[in-house]
Amino acid sequence: MNTAQEQLPIGQSGRLNGRTAVVTGSTSGIGLGIARALAMLGADVVLNGLGNRAEIEATRDELAQSAGTRITYHGANLLDAREAAALVTDTIAAFGKVDILVNNAGVQFVSPIESFPDDKWRTIQELNLSASFFTIRPAFAAMKEAGWGRIINLASVHGLIASPFKSAYVAAKHGLIGLTKTVALEGAQYGVTCNAVCPGYVWTPLVEGQIADTAKARGISREEVIETVLLAAQPSKRFVTVEELGALVAFLCTEGARSITGTAIPVDGGWTGQ
Ligand code: NAD
Repeated sequence: MNTAQEQLPIGQSGRLNGRTAVVTGSTSGIGLGIARALAMLGADVVLNGLGNRAEIEATRDELAQSAGTRITYHGANLLDAREAAALVTDTIAAFGKVDILVNNAGVQFVSPIESFPDDKWRTIQELNLSASFFTIRPAFAAMKEAGWGRIINLASVHGLIASPFKSAYVAAKHGLIGLTKTVALEGAQYGVTCNAVCPGYVWTPLVEGQIADTAKARGISREEVIETVLLAAQPSKRFVTVEELGALVAFLCTEGARSITGTAIPVDGGWTGQ
């Protein structure tokens, strides 16, 4: 259990050289920001997600060039439990190990309860919650055996509190925090930590699109949409950035964070402090 890494002085342990990381849903948005942060600190990274193959290859190539580490892509559709597990087992086959697993892929659907569609409910549970279990299971076994591991689950402020019309998302994200705590307890004596990161509104291309649409629909300015609609509950009145999330996840992967486990860390400009 006492690996060389564990004995590194904290001040010298901020790099992730030699670590192998899997980041789900990393072809865009937050996942890509996290993959970039890990790679820039020296980690080899397996990207995953859906999308146009040529664009994904361009992203993979650009990241490999910038970071100078090994960056690969795995096209697992995480709605299939076997593919989710294969993402991890194929990584272990290719790299010899998996040190870091970031469960980031997720989708949202907003609707009142009475009209919430069955298929949307199921997809949100399967992707935002169950897929994390199916990647964690093989990764956890390998990490426990190696005596070192970092599992980070992208939950949300909606894993801690609710908003109306987001029943499936809120339920799945609360569940993900419960899973995080259980994994943390089972891994605590084996050098394996597990934490949840809980962002408020994050600046992603998806959000940028919503601003223009909402401004048009309500006949208000871009600034009014940001302050009074999107960031109504976020006291900082600014979006969280993918770089900020990348920096936190990278820190959780270092030796300095080895006693941080079982937590759900809000990154929300004060939202859940109210
Ligand atoms: P995004 O839509 O930009 O990215 C989602 C990623 O998941 C993409 O790479 C997509 O290809 C991938 N994906 C979707 N379905 C998949 C499937 N079946 N199999 C494999 N990959 C799949 O979303 P984002 O805004 O970057 O969100 C990332 C995570 O952060 C999600 O879990 C989301 O709930 C959470 N989150 C986002 C915000 C926000 O404001 N954007 C706030 C809190 C939490």
